Amino acid sequence: MIVTKIELSNFRNYDSLSLELDDKTNILYGKNAQGKTNVLEAIYLCSTTKSHRSSKDAELIKFENNEGHIKLFINKKGREYRIDIHLRKNKSKGIAINGIPIKKASELFGIFNVIFFSPEDLDIIKNGPAERRRFVDMELCQLDKIYVYNLINYNKVLGQRNQLLKDIYMKPELEDTLDVWDMQLAEYGSKVIKRREQFIKDINKIIKPIHRKLTENSEEIEVVYKKSCNEDELYNKIIENRKKDIKLKSTSAGPHRDDILFFNKDINIRTYGSQGQKRTVALSLKLAEIELVKSLINDTPVLLLDDVLSELDSDRQNHLLKSLDEIQTVITCTGLDEFIENRFSINKVFQVTKGK
Ligand code: ATP
Ligand code: MG
Repeated sequence: MIVTKIELSNFRNYDSLSLELDDKTNILYGKNAQGKTNVLEAIYLCSTTKSHRSSKDAELIKFENNEGHIKLFINKKGREYRIDIHLRKNKSKGIAINGIPIKKASELFGIFNVIFFSPEDLDIIKNGPAERRRFVDMELCQLDKIYVYNLINYNKVLGQRNQLLKDIYMKPELEDTLDVWDMQLAEYGSKVIKRREQFIKDINKIIKPIHRKLTENSEEIEVVYKKSCNEDELYNKIIENRKKDIKLKSTSAGPHRDDILFFNKDINIRTYGSQGQKRTVALSLKLAEIELVKSLINDTPVLLLDDVLSELDSDRQNHLLKSLDEIQTVITCTGLDEFIENRFSINKVFQVTKGK
């Protein structure tokens, strides 16, 4: 799939913008704080309805305005789609696909697949478990509507159970009402665990050859889904933990406590790996993500590379850009030197200055 055109009005630092993209490599270059990432953010919003910077909707609207618009024109195997996002200051945003408003944000998932790659993603191994779970969740939400449903419900029930645990602290007689939440938590939670486990299995198959190539056969990677509890034991575990959870006023077992670990020949890379090793694993993970999405949607996702090339040495830049043969890519950077020196092919270049 490709983005053919993007139109913005009163979005971030843009009054109005209309950009026709090439179906291969596009570059947005310019000095800092000019609006390069803002364009990628707008594209990303049309895929997940959320900003990759996880800021509030109101922050996306240009200062001193009450509303803003994003219009994205997509070509998916010859079929045209238009996604409209209408941002409103004190209201939730309106989203329409081909002019037809959707009721729930989740209806947009799966229509338009993007992969966002920023320098922060290179720190995914080093960062905390929440970010690794987020990586898996964001990807699965684009790929699997049933997962979205189970995850949303899991988080809802988890929130309600945690609130109840706090209330029980003051009113112990409420303890009996936990039963209904525990059952639902186990039901949705076990489905979330099962799907994540499959995702990690799929990633493993793809990442191994990629990582071997990136490390010139010096590393053997293994991605491991570390569960706080097996899916078929979740209900019993929740019941078993009840007293402890009431004391802690929070739920101690479930997929919200899980992690993803990376091993090189049985050595935990997060604990023992060098900075460079961790970043190479992160790059392999992104490349694996692209391949996995390609095979699951039977199409190419759109790749957004936010300032990431300058973070990689020329070998790794080469690996990354070479893996992008057939994928529409939008790259942001502050200069074009790297592209010229390394003779990377570019199809369209836009200079970004002060939201223009
Ligand atoms: P860098 O190279 O530093 O990453 P960039 O070109 O990617 O820069 P962006 O993050 O796209 O920069 O844009 C940042 C600019 O957008 C800043 O000047 C910021 O003040 C402005 N900006 C952010 N939100 C809003 C908003 N709601 N209204 C107006 N301007 C905004
Ligand atoms: Mg930027």
